[in-house]
Amino acid sequence: MAKRLIVIGGVAAGTSAASRARRVDPSLEIVLFEKGEYISYGACDEPYLMGGVIDKPERLLVRSPEEFRKKQNIDICLRHEVVRIIPEEKTVLVKNLNTAQTERFSYDALIIATGAKPRPLDVPGADARNFFQLKFYEQALSLYRFLNERNPKRAVSYGAGFIALEMAEAFHLRGIENTIINRSNRVGGRLEPEIEKEVKAILEEKGVRCQPETTIKEFVKDSSGMITRVVTDRGDFETDMVLCSIGVVPEVELAKSAGVKLGRTGAIAVNERMETSIPGIYAAGDCCETYNRVSGEPTYTPLGDIANKQGWVAGENAAGGNIIYPGALGSWSFKCFEMEVGATGLLASDAKRLGYDVFTNVIEHRSRTHAQPGSKKIIVKLVADKKTHKLLGAQLAGREGAALRINAVAVALYNQMTVDELANVDFAYAPPFSPVIDPILIAARDAVKSI
Ligand code: FAD
Repeated sequence: MAKRLIVIGGVAAGTSAASRARRVDPSLEIVLFEKGEYISYGACDEPYLMGGVIDKPERLLVRSPEEFRKKQNIDICLRHEVVRIIPEEKTVLVKNLNTAQTERFSYDALIIATGAKPRPLDVPGADARNFFQLKFYEQALSLYRFLNERNPKRAVSYGAGFIALEMAEAFHLRGIENTIINRSNRVGGRLEPEIEKEVKAILEEKGVRCQPETTIKEFVKDSSGMITRVVTDRGDFETDMVLCSIGVVPEVELAKSAGVKLGRTGAIAVNERMETSIPGIYAAGDCCETYNRVSGEPTYTPLGDIANKQGWVAGENAAGGNIIYPGALGSWSFKCFEMEVGATGLLASDAKRLGYDVFTNVIEHRSRTHAQPGSKKIIVKLVADKKTHKLLGAQLAGREGAALRINAVAVALYNQMTVDELANVDFAYAPPFSPVIDPILIAARDAVKSI
């Protein structure tokens, strides 16, 4: 009898795992259970759907269940929630959400790819019809419909992470006045202060109102159940809708109740083969921890590319292969209006905490040669170790060519290069793409001189 692989969760990690497993073992029976109505979609594009850059929601759907069935012989069961894992019996209990019936399935290998869920907000009024969180495709659909049908004029966002910033641009494109209320005075998440300053500047320039160090106490609803006023510890804000963007938490209850060990971040602990503490059970994506190659520590880094890569490794190994996930660098990027931000490696504050003798420098240069019309300012911040000159991290911000440039630094970081070595790398040059010496090389040269 064919061996059976069961995958729980059908977005980035789950579908990547199932696809990889199929490649490795064509004879494997693969069943994927997804409790939602959709699989294989690009959540990262949701803000661009809201802003009208992407013209219809269906464009976010990458592959249909039928395609998985026909092309890869992967059985996709939508609206099927795995309610229990019984490792001793190698079985799962699955509830069909259409019929409410529960069935038992045995497995030879199991991959948990249950992802993350929006961090809940315990504030009166958060059950309103115009209170939104943006994570699952279903949530994106309901926000999209509301924006089109209700045509709101004002939106309050709670939280100032990169998704709130991407949505600030989307609101702007729709002519919606946006106020970002935030408990801290930081925007954009894990940014160096010099990079964050650029992001704050563009928000101000575009008329996005930021209300830092403010906590929401209540959402006041009208008789139709819609929020009309947001009550905070620093006054009230009239609004037509609320977007709550206060982060995500790993979806680990199912794993935890089966006895799967969680790491200190609260996500599922995995080894480099993406194996959990229970033999035969793997985990991948936003539900599990990510090993950070630079710090050597497990981190919680819920990002789409990482989920995909971890899914690939889990799928390969669950199907009988033997590969490792080498860890992440903490590379990420986002765009807020014209401002591009790219980051990789450690923040200076992380490096200090880890005991490095930290060197940092910040340089300002241009995206292209001075003669090129429209070339833009680029800020580069490098973090390095004073003793070894080893590169530890970098962040870039600019209105052109900043986000993708970070990948060159990521390659250097992956290979544990020093700033001296980075300064000598032969970057390509042509005026439409960069100045004669690229801003990254300028920053590395500056570091070599001043370290
Ligand atoms: P998820 O996408 O959370 O999927 C998990 C699935 O498991 C869900 O569909 C859930 O219904 C299902 N599930 C859970 N429990 C069960 C159960 N018991 N039974 C059956 N099914 C279950 N990342 C980037 O790298 N770059 C970006 O620019 C970026 N932008 C983003 C923008 C937005 C608006 C959002 C929301 C996310 C963004 N991300 C980005 C993050 C990225 O989308 C996630 O890291 C990625 O979706 C994680 O995939 P996953 O498969 O691990 O988990």
